[in-house]
Amino acid sequence: MNELRARIRDIPDFPKKGIVFKDITPVLADAALFRHVVDALADRYRGERISKVVGIESRGFLFAAPVAIALGAGLAIVRKPGKLPWRTAREVYALEYGEDALEMHIDAVGPGERVLVVDDVLATGGTADAVGKLVTGQGADLIGFAFLLELGFLHGARRLGPQKVYSLLQY
Ligand code: AMP
Repeated sequence: MNELRARIRDIPDFPKKGIVFKDITPVLADAALFRHVVDALADRYRGERISKVVGIESRGFLFAAPVAIALGAGLAIVRKPGKLPWRTAREVYALEYGEDALEMHIDAVGPGERVLVVDDVLATGGTADAVGKLVTGQGADLIGFAFLLELGFLHGARRLGPQKVYSLLQY
């Protein structure tokens, strides 16, 4: 995982002052490393009979889709309001200032499904927590949350339940 760490680029003050943005595009650009990351995320859940992987807009999609294929699972997507064309469930969550919402098609996951949520970065956990609520709200079992990297100092894992969180890298 040292190679992975070396390919994650820190961008200070993006998208606003004080935030160090973790740019994962160099990982996507490296064929061997991209495959390695997808395999490592999928390997952790191979024994879990995952039926759906849920990707969080938008960088989560980049990893959720290949992980779903690797696990022999279907893919569901969670998007910002107004982007999904059919009937949706919506979850509103708090931001540092104000609130935001995420949506998922009402038939994207359902009772009896075993669901893995995938995103690139776990920060405060507010986003992933809202996605978890969409999943359980549809009656599916939330098996876990998988990330490329976790910003440990923001304690997102505490919010999601540490036993449910798997991250390839800690910062
Ligand atoms: P949070 O809800 O605070 O856990 O934020 C998670 C969402 O924001 C994820 O979808 C991440 O892709 C994105 N995000 C938050 N902080 C960063 C960061 N420092 N670098 C890159 N993406 C971030």
